Amino acid sequence: MSTIAAISTAIGTSGIGIVRMSGDKSFYVLNKIFKPKKDFNIDEIKGYSIKYGYIMDEDRVIDEVLVSFFKAPSSYTTEDLCEISSHGGTFVVKKILELCLKNGANLAEPGEFTKRAFLNGRIDLSQAEAVIDIINSRTDKEAKSSINQLEGSLSRQIGKIRDLLMQIMVNIEVSIDYPEYDEANEIQSTNTLQILQEVKENLESLEKSFENGKIIKEGIKLALIGKPNAGKSSLLNAILQEERAIVTAVEGTTRDTIEEDVSINGIPLHIIDTAGIRNSTNEVEKIGIEKSRKMAQDADLIIAIFDCSTELTNEDLEILKLLIGKKCIVVLNKVDLGINKVNKSAFKPVADSSNIIEISAKEGIGIEKIYDKITEMFNINEISLDDSTIVTNVRHKNIIVKAIEYTNNAIDDIKKNVPMDIMSISVKEILEELGKITGESVSDEIIKEIFSNFCLGK
Ligand code: GDP
Repeated sequence: MSTIAAISTAIGTSGIGIVRMSGDKSFYVLNKIFKPKKDFNIDEIKGYSIKYGYIMDEDRVIDEVLVSFFKAPSSYTTEDLCEISSHGGTFVVKKILELCLKNGANLAEPGEFTKRAFLNGRIDLSQAEAVIDIINSRTDKEAKSSINQLEGSLSRQIGKIRDLLMQIMVNIEVSIDYPEYDEANEIQSTNTLQILQEVKENLESLEKSFENGKIIKEGIKLALIGKPNAGKSSLLNAILQEERAIVTAVEGTTRDTIEEDVSINGIPLHIIDTAGIRNSTNEVEKIGIEKSRKMAQDADLIIAIFDCSTELTNEDLEILKLLIGKKCIVVLNKVDLGINKVNKSAFKPVADSSNIIEISAKEGIGIEKIYDKITEMFNINEISLDDSTIVTNVRHKNIIVKAIEYTNNAIDDIKKNVPMDIMSISVKEILEELGKITGESVSDEIIKEIFSNFCLGK
């Protein structure tokens, strides 16, 4: 592979800047532009050593630098690699890079150092992808899950599943080689089924971890909907425990939306209090209504509020329609009035009885139950923030979903007594899919695309 060079630090005024070079010739390229304070033989340089000196453009001193040497295979890329630490700033680092290129190095593509670490087998693809996630992390939790992935937590999980699948492949070989042992074959197939169930459980828990990962990263988007005067603002206030939203008996005050962030057990909840959904001729209100519909559509969870002291109206039924197929909680408000005119059977198509909660927003009754329900619906208590394997990458998640599909096919095959060698096709497909996460069975285009998202010099 050619010798590559790039500026690894952000360009701009800074204390130091680093130009990195990797490849067979990197020390020789360096030798042409580096004048050490104390002479040494470049062929005898030790890995993990640092030399002090000057970068020279022929007779001109460009900067005073420190060069760190990493010898193959103990380097980021597993190749001979050196890092020239100069003063920061735009001119000097660019000039040093230019000198490297002039003396035989090629300009590295974005992510090429990490790509080499992958191609040379030091890390697998999921670990390489973790590098970019670490760089892009905005929160402590994101960084933590990325560093776990870099340290191989996902790779280990995938490895565990692969081992199980390899066990199945061995079973299959046995039953193909000794078809005459019926009894043995029966045992093999029961055993294979058990292993496949285990594979499925493991994959499903990885898939589930993606939902958790998304919640940790983005929080839950909650839309509060209900007809005017049902008590949306009052509930929001009760949740926020402060009078931030205007509570009034006049319809349409909450014409636009109010958005608030709260946190339930450390999980961010982004609440959108929508305008009452109503049949209105008023243009301005219509805009509000459309917005409500849209928000209900985009939400991860809808809380629909109904006033239990009055009978359900057509408007209420319109609101019910928005809940179809969505995660929702039906809230019956104003229980403090002691009047119950709402027949719960009306909610049957959208919520079972455990998802119907009676409250009084005004008196603060039942609010805790809403919290408990949200916690239960999103498995918030189960989301261990220290959980070592959280799938956060959509590419990985899609692969896992596909692998679950193939696992189900294999399980079906066994249940239908399909011959083992045919069933093995599905098992090979699962292995192939998982190899796309770790990088064994992934196309060059995908590898190219993944690394093109990296920054230069990484
Ligand atoms: P919104 O239009 O859905 O936002 O409804 P509001 O929260 O503004 O409430 C409408 C009216 O119902 C106000 O007069 C509230 O005081 C009243 N209200 C809200 N929640 C309750 C409740 O739990 N009990 C009673 N008795 N009145 C309530």
